[in-house]
Amino acid sequence: MIIDGKAIAERIKGKAKNCCSDCYRKPNAVAFILGENPSSEAYLRMIERTLKSVDFGYTLIRLPETISEEELLQKIVEKNLDTEVDGILVQMPLPEHISEERVIMTIAPEKDLDGFHPINAGRLFKGEKGTRPCTPLAVITIFKELDIDLEGKYIVVIGRSNIVGKPLAVMLMQNNATVTICHSKTVDLEEHTRKADIIIVAVGIPNFLTRDMVTEKSIVIDVGINEVDGKIVGDVDYDSMKDYVHMITPVPGGVGPVTNAVLLLNLIEHFRGVVR
Ligand code: NDP
Repeated sequence: MIIDGKAIAERIKGKAKNCCSDCYRKPNAVAFILGENPSSEAYLRMIERTLKSVDFGYTLIRLPETISEEELLQKIVEKNLDTEVDGILVQMPLPEHISEERVIMTIAPEKDLDGFHPINAGRLFKGEKGTRPCTPLAVITIFKELDIDLEGKYIVVIGRSNIVGKPLAVMLMQNNATVTICHSKTVDLEEHTRKADIIIVAVGIPNFLTRDMVTEKSIVIDVGINEVDGKIVGDVDYDSMKDYVHMITPVPGGVGPVTNAVLLLNLIEHFRGVVR
């Protein structure tokens, strides 16, 4: 079965729209972008489309690349204090003279839409309420939407980055899965993947997971986004295994659309004051 990420994203948007239809105001997000970067612009246009499709507020603040770190931090603090703003995004990468770490630390944890603030990371680690990073949240949401019970499942996550692999492994464990995290130093990777009920790949290498590394029973989730000859492809050799494995996400049209849609869930939680 091919997992239809676009359909799941539409269901999430429908729920998001309904859950704020009778509120005193709509949830509002603010994004900061410094200078010009085509892929950042494209990403933010997608975020804007998603927010506008459910009538949520969105303001893009464009700042010159030459802005000082202090000025940028001051602008973030102003939005932290603005009671009409529920979520803040600062588009990375930032110019070299600005510390990403300081920027992330300055966003109030209760407005941190990306879930990258160390307080939110700590809350995730401890299993407390907090904002979860969108991509791991999207993967968990796909399982929930498809009624895939993670309890007792053996899941292999390939990739251990702070924004995907590590937080995802913690979230899977909190859903009672047995989790193995693999990375570039893992020996005999296919020994792990062939035993897994679910394989999640977040490596950043096209065609990384090949058919000989999976079985007919595997559920394969491809987080990768790579550009090859002008086309977007994932980390999985999709064509060779789409008719073989039990379930698989395509790229594009799998994890990506769900990642955008779950941003709405984070924004709603901030709006409702669930995350403090
Ligand atoms: P990183 O580059 O930060 O991490 C890649 C991970 O893959 C590392 O942990 C690395 O191991 C591991 N790795 C690299 N080579 C191998 C190998 N040969 N065998 C096993 N593991 C390996 O990437 P990200 O986590 O940021 O992103 C991963 C992919 O997901 C990218 O394609 C990215 O574009 C995509 N992405 C997609 C998103 C979405 O919403 N769909 C959002 C974010 C990212 P080690 O730690 O040992 O170096």
